[in-house]
Amino acid sequence: MTDVNTLGEFGLIEHLTQAFPITQPSTIRGIGDDAAVIDNGPFCTVVSTDMLVEGIHFDLAYTPLRHLGYKAVVVNLSDIYAMNATPRQITVSFAISSKYTVEALDELYAGIHAACETYGVDLVGGDTTSAPKGMVISITAIGQGEKERLAYRSGARPGDLICITGDLGAAYLGLQLLERERRIWIEHPEVQRNLEEQKYIVGRHLKPEARRDMIEAFRKADLIPTSMIDISDGLASELFHICKQSRVGALLEESGVPIHPDAQMMALQFKLDPITCALNGGEDYELLFTIDPKDTDKVRFLPDIYIAGEILDAADGIKLNTKGGNLHTLQAQGWRHF
Ligand code: ADP
Ligand code: MG
Repeated sequence: MTDVNTLGEFGLIEHLTQAFPITQPSTIRGIGDDAAVIDNGPFCTVVSTDMLVEGIHFDLAYTPLRHLGYKAVVVNLSDIYAMNATPRQITVSFAISSKYTVEALDELYAGIHAACETYGVDLVGGDTTSAPKGMVISITAIGQGEKERLAYRSGARPGDLICITGDLGAAYLGLQLLERERRIWIEHPEVQRNLEEQKYIVGRHLKPEARRDMIEAFRKADLIPTSMIDISDGLASELFHICKQSRVGALLEESGVPIHPDAQMMALQFKLDPITCALNGGEDYELLFTIDPKDTDKVRFLPDIYIAGEILDAADGIKLNTKGGNLHTLQAQGWRHF
């Protein structure tokens, strides 16, 4: 018998799905991108699903249920935006053990409601069932895109510029901080700790936002990224996905990777290299995308976008040029699910 660990998450998905060819003419894109794309006349329907498991993806010791509901929606919408499409509907399914009360589920749904309002999506269905322990939430997001404006992971070409939105690594450091505080709390429950000063990084973990604003800015600037992915597993892992699917290499400039000062400080406290947190931490829900160099001026004047490197030929590999001027081959650790 084979342990699932031997394949890893992506190896396992490939293993299980390789015998499923696409047979429907309306299936424009199946497995392998942030969302599937289905031809629907003048528009495309874009679909993405994510599952969150208690004890793996969230810990209710420090995650308010309202935040969990909000985040569960946002992480799905992020995948729709990563296609340069607009989410319209969600379905929400959950399995819960008997330890959950109606009041607890009301809190969860208050968060889901807030996300639906913020992002303008409708809750249109789901499924409710029981579980032997804990909670599992699965959300499907359905969006709409224009065929010519969709951005796939596979469209990057040598010479394209690599762009990153927002800042990276803060959500990971927020999680490290919450984990540390939880351990301290278990040993010394009498000590009151104040996380107010670390609001930014804690907020990045507990209440992430999807970059709807970027998709709107692209439209206004008449820009279509040549490729795009959302940064859920860490920059390195996402850059590998783009390079693999586009059959290209990349040169990433460390100096171009945006990191918030609060994340820099917390990384140093944890004796971690901030760039390692940006490359391999997860759950930032920012966008990594590439543009044709002739579109540079369109991007230059958009706020919160950073040019951080260039797409190369596949033979050049995937490299990181450090601030010290050393060239490293990039390693993608990403999140280990198994
Ligand atoms: P993301 O991180 O953007 O949510 P994932 O890494 O979860 O994407 O998934 C990569 C691709 O594999 C997606 O196209 C997803 O739909 C597909 N996929 C994941 N799990 C399964 C599965 N059990 N069966 C079929 N397709 C899957
Ligand atoms: Mg994604």
